[in-house]
Amino acid sequence: MNSTHAQQTLLEHYVKKILAAKVYELAVRTPLQDAPALSEALGNRILLKREDLQPTFSFKIRGAFNKLMQLSDEQKARGVIPASAGNHAQGVALAARELGIAATIVMPCTTPELKVLGVRSRGADAVLHGESFPFALEHALNLAQQTRRTFVSPFDDPDVIAGQGTVAMEILRQHQGPLDAIFVPVGGGGLIAGIAAYVKYLRPEVRIIGVESEHSACLSAALQAGERVVLPAVGTFADGVAVAQIGAHGFEVCRFCVDEVLTVSNDELCAAIKNIYDDTRSITEPSGALAVAGIKKYAAKTGARGQTFVAIDSGANINFDSLRHVAERAAMCNAPA
Ligand SMILES: *Cc1c(COP(=O)(O)O)cnc(C)c1O
Repeated sequence: MNSTHAQQTLLEHYVKKILAAKVYELAVRTPLQDAPALSEALGNRILLKREDLQPTFSFKIRGAFNKLMQLSDEQKARGVIPASAGNHAQGVALAARELGIAATIVMPCTTPELKVLGVRSRGADAVLHGESFPFALEHALNLAQQTRRTFVSPFDDPDVIAGQGTVAMEILRQHQGPLDAIFVPVGGGGLIAGIAAYVKYLRPEVRIIGVESEHSACLSAALQAGERVVLPAVGTFADGVAVAQIGAHGFEVCRFCVDEVLTVSNDELCAAIKNIYDDTRSITEPSGALAVAGIKKYAAKTGARGQTFVAIDSGANINFDSLRHVAERAAMCNAPA
């Protein structure tokens, strides 16, 4: 990576914010765990960063808590209106309860029921609006303006990005041996921006590879166009990443820090959910399995052998009823691993 002085300054700014991020009052340091069966099948060492083990079953608690901690007393007193596809919502709900902040969270009508329950059970108001995240986002922005409450983006905010970047800080501490690439699921780009900023500042030789659902590949589209574009439609099977436009703050980092972006199909996600289950006996949601699906695709495409790859296992919030569909598709997808 040949970055300019301005780019190095931007990364340094994020590294400082990540080192200072307040997340551990609620978030846990998750394990970085070997996936032996997948490693054997692919001929590469695969490590899983187990963000599905967070208190809200996804990494979003990191960014949400760090963001709410930065609000002024006046902002805290007025309350917050986040928009979310469901996991940020649960993170904000938990963080808001902890800090005594009122939260009204706007989610699309298609949000899996357990994510909505996860919000309400933590004492926040859930408003369901629109068929996918872009509609919920617009509604939340309007409500925030009307009520003078603070809008909290799930990805397009430097404090949220810094919170998510603590995942990378842990990875580099937990694994000090050779590391070839980190595979990161991409929705609005907050997670990958935080990880890429931290890793490219400290270990620029480590490749950062984004993985998108083919039904919401807004980072690929933006990199191709050279600017942020709005996808005309998004598919919601991987509901945690069903975003139509990459965040502005995230894109500023991604455009020079992300080495490659892969897209995967819904069937490839189902197969990856099974791979993760086989190695960990835990179940991930479709978005949570993106990185593993990406590693399989990358290994097949490049013929990589003997390398070390980290996959962010980003979330586990899947309706129990959806498992039948996932198991059926995984069985049909004649996966090599
Ligand atoms: C939000 C989310 C992502 C994507 O994170 P972005 O910061 O939006 O790119 C990936 N996986 C899960 C489970 C998520 O909830």
